Amino acid sequence: MFEKILIANRGEIALRIQRACRELGIRTVVVHSEADTEAKYVKLADESVCIGPPAAQASYLNIPAIISAAEVTDAEAIHPGYGFLAENADFAEKVEGSGFVFIGPRPENIRLMGDKVSAKQAMEKAGVPTVLGSAGELPADPKDIVKIARKLGYPVLVKSAGGGGGRGMRIVHTEAALLNAVAVTRAEAQAAFGNPSVYLERFLENPRHIEIQVLADSAKNAVHLGERDCSIQRRHQKVIEEAPAPELAAKLRDRIGERCVEACRKIGYRGAGTVEFLYEEGEFYFIEMNTRIQVEHPVTEMVTGVDIVQEQIRIAAGEKLRLRQKDVELRGHAIECRINAEDPYRFTPSPGRIVSYHPPGGPGIRVDTHIYQGYRVPPDYDSLIGKVIAYGATREQAINRMRVALSEMVVEGIQTNLPLHRELVNDTHFLRGGVSIHYLEQKLAQEQKKKAR
Ligand code: ADP
Repeated sequence: MFEKILIANRGEIALRIQRACRELGIRTVVVHSEADTEAKYVKLADESVCIGPPAAQASYLNIPAIISAAEVTDAEAIHPGYGFLAENADFAEKVEGSGFVFIGPRPENIRLMGDKVSAKQAMEKAGVPTVLGSAGELPADPKDIVKIARKLGYPVLVKSAGGGGGRGMRIVHTEAALLNAVAVTRAEAQAAFGNPSVYLERFLENPRHIEIQVLADSAKNAVHLGERDCSIQRRHQKVIEEAPAPELAAKLRDRIGERCVEACRKIGYRGAGTVEFLYEEGEFYFIEMNTRIQVEHPVTEMVTGVDIVQEQIRIAAGEKLRLRQKDVELRGHAIECRINAEDPYRFTPSPGRIVSYHPPGGPGIRVDTHIYQGYRVPPDYDSLIGKVIAYGATREQAINRMRVALSEMVVEGIQTNLPLHRELVNDTHFLRGGVSIHYLEQKLAQEQKKKAR
């Protein structure tokens, strides 16, 4: 096992990784920007290195500075967390090229999954069901594009191979709008991702977002830890996640889980990963694979009892998975609310000093956060300031506990989306379970209309 790991991230995930290391008896080095000097995980780390000014480009995305920090502190491995450099294959390559272990998949797997066209083709080849679409990148000839779209049937979605974070997509309802949409998306993709490649998919009207958590070691042992339902989204950003997915038959879960495990073996995947699907009328459609730990990993940890971050570290250290598929048992239900520093209805960021903070507690409540009373949320990064996770024997109990937790929680001095979460855990459709990915935006739009009247 490693003696020292460098954490190349910030916020709640930096603290989460640090806790995993501490339990395993591993010392930690945290790199941070000038904006994060006062952060809790910086104070708690065995060592810390300031690597640059607040702007992420100059600090958390500064590859030479991070590698130098690992060199001067004698760290053996680097955990990238999520966001920033976590899915940057060049970074993984440089880390390994400099003699450190990258806690994550092989660079070629990150690259394969980072391009949506190659990811989709690899998954198809491995027997994972995908959304009906063009066979790879769209051809240049407009006539061929029109033909492909006709075959799929409208509406279709133009997607960028290099897209991410919900950007680089365009829905097309009629043939008249098709070629212009393709041209505009191509130009945008070139500007935003440096890759003009686009492809077409049938647009699913009312899907749910269901994803499978996988773990694989270097010896091609692989398991899945069941699924998470992340359909409560706004602008393709997840707001609430839960495990297991409401009303998903065990047979369907096992079948799709096995396909994902088989795909991991086929591509030689290593580490933790998430295979994301749209789910509609009993069918799964692959959309992308995330080659890193995810924000919503705690709900899976709660229902399986597996510490996913520790598993990532063990796999990177060369250990074989101790877990077999038959040992993976889903017990109870877990729900996570993402707490953001933002206006709960206009969604504008709300950085600043937290003057008062009272975390919730009690049976089944887990709070993953780096905030404290007096902490200043910097304006430079993502607005996520923590996650409240509620576990219960049943979905109903998990929701009841979440309701109590949200009513206890106090964060003052900045605005947060706590009011939105308090509303959602009382929403009849959410309570019933199984809403589509459009539900939250439809609900918010309706409330806007009511207010305007
Ligand atoms: P990103 O990497 O930008 O998150 P994804 O491919 O994961 O891109 O898609 C993001 C979201 O876009 C999905 O969660 C879903 O809401 C929507 N989406 C993607 N593909 C389709 C599709 N074929 N039909 C309907 N919605 C889709």
